[in-house]
Amino acid sequence: MSETYDVIVIGAGPAGYVAAIRAAQLGLKVACVDDFTGKDGKQALGGTCLNVGCIPSKALLDSSRQFWNIAHNLPVHGISVENAKIDMATFVGRKDKIVKQFTGGIAQLFKANKVTAFHGKGKLLKGNQVEVTAADGSRQTLAATNVILASGSVPIELPFAKFDGKAIVDNAGALDFSEVPKRLGVIGAGVIGLELGSVWKRLGAEVTIIEALPEFLSVADADVAKVAAKEFAKQGLTIKLNAKLNKAEVKKDGVHLTYTDKDGEQNLVVDKLLVAVGRRAYTAGLLADDTGVKLDERGRIAVDEHNHTGVDGVWAIGDAVRGPMLAHKGSEEGVAVAEWIAGKAGHVNFDTIPWVIYTEPEIAWAGKTEKELKDAGIPYKVGTFPFAAIGRAVAMNEAIGQVKMLAHAETDRILGVHMVGPGVSELIAECVVAMEFKGSSEDLARIVHAHPTLSEAVHEAALSVDKRAIHKGN
Ligand code: FAD
Ligand code: NAD
Repeated sequence: MSETYDVIVIGAGPAGYVAAIRAAQLGLKVACVDDFTGKDGKQALGGTCLNVGCIPSKALLDSSRQFWNIAHNLPVHGISVENAKIDMATFVGRKDKIVKQFTGGIAQLFKANKVTAFHGKGKLLKGNQVEVTAADGSRQTLAATNVILASGSVPIELPFAKFDGKAIVDNAGALDFSEVPKRLGVIGAGVIGLELGSVWKRLGAEVTIIEALPEFLSVADADVAKVAAKEFAKQGLTIKLNAKLNKAEVKKDGVHLTYTDKDGEQNLVVDKLLVAVGRRAYTAGLLADDTGVKLDERGRIAVDEHNHTGVDGVWAIGDAVRGPMLAHKGSEEGVAVAEWIAGKAGHVNFDTIPWVIYTEPEIAWAGKTEKELKDAGIPYKVGTFPFAAIGRAVAMNEAIGQVKMLAHAETDRILGVHMVGPGVSELIAECVVAMEFKGSSEDLARIVHAHPTLSEAVHEAALSVDKRAIHKGN
């Protein structure tokens, strides 16, 4: 007889494991099925985010930043270090240790919350049953009142540059190079391309990023993208826009790329090629034919505004459904679904989900861009403030970029905040809180901000919306 649960979650990424824990907190009997296997051959909970995404990339970004600073930042402070070297085994090993610490942490949280973990491939069967197939092929069937599908996403593969795990890699491969590639090619100047391109550039690789779109970082506000493009160029990242890859051939001396840009056909030889052209929802083998769960036009699990699939008791969350592919978006959906299942009022506000790109300088935003407001015909006011006039940023020798605030021209409600500069991954939180409470630029302008801190840039940008910034001309 199959074991019965109140909730079975398929996928233990930041969407699934958070849903499982929240459901258990609410007194439900929960199981979570995940098939990810760590480098040690054991189950590694946490999905893409903990194993090959957010956490390992941030570990390498931080290590590489320390290395880069030795030559590029410390001399300004009067500190010089000669012959700085990087030990790759320690560099990658530190990242692996952090991953293990956090994936192990989820296992402990599951134990503490009495969530039963199953290691294997989960398949939804008709009638809310879940078949679990372990790596050795053995199968068992579980049953539940509710099933939450949280199967995440996988990298998109280009047919003419297929991943081989050695020369042509995805994010997982680019987190595990055993030596710094002399020449690294990156396809896609999106979030992964910029973050992982930065890691290897900082360690000495010659990095060339090939981007299909004519505009750089078009998801971000144009002013932010402009500052970022200038800074990345200064760091030596080569970004080719409006460039389309036609061919990638692995030969003895490297990967031979042929791409077309505004000047015609170009050739480039690199030692490693990272393909980071986006991710797609992963649903292979997840659904039996007769479950009734539908996919949308982009292959994502179709859900309504409450993450319900339309099949009784079947829900879906995270990268596998519509919306931004961000860990915190998936986690909040996980919490909301667990609460809806338990008869409570769940809630996810898509209008205030923050975006952060962990490059140097960092990029962060929430809400509408100026272009989006213009296109929608919404009247707005703009306030900006440069980090060059922020004492703390200058003291840190990181006085790059700005905060830009967009507020409604009549109501003054904050509609969007766009930042590029030091520590903006943390500064955006204040703006998200203000926006969530439907705050105005005046609200932020009248709040006391500690001096000297980077947060004064947010305060001054808010003042600048009303043309009364103190430390710049208005
Ligand atoms: P996933 O994390 O993909 O987890 C899904 C899990 O389900 C996986 O373990 C998978 O093996 C398992 N699974 C799938 N199908 C089945 C099945 N049938 N049976 C059993 N198990 C199954 N986001 C941020 O917000 N901030 C960042 O800084 C950030 N950095 C990133 C860096 C990189 C390099 C990458 C690749 C992504 C990054 N992301 C970041 C995106 C983030 O990782 C994803 O948005 C997030 O992991 C999605 O969570 P999820 O739970 O929906 O899916
Ligand atoms: P992305 O959508 O951010 O960027 C992909 C880029 O590749 C785009 O600029 C696109 O125009 C370009 N592109 C697409 N096809 C191309 C082609 N054939 N040739 C050249 N360029 C091409 O995708 P990503 O960088 O792969 O990351 C996937 C997702 O993972 C992100 O959208 C994000 O949701 C998530 N992520 C988030 C973070 C973070 O929050 N800091 C970090 C990494 C990844």
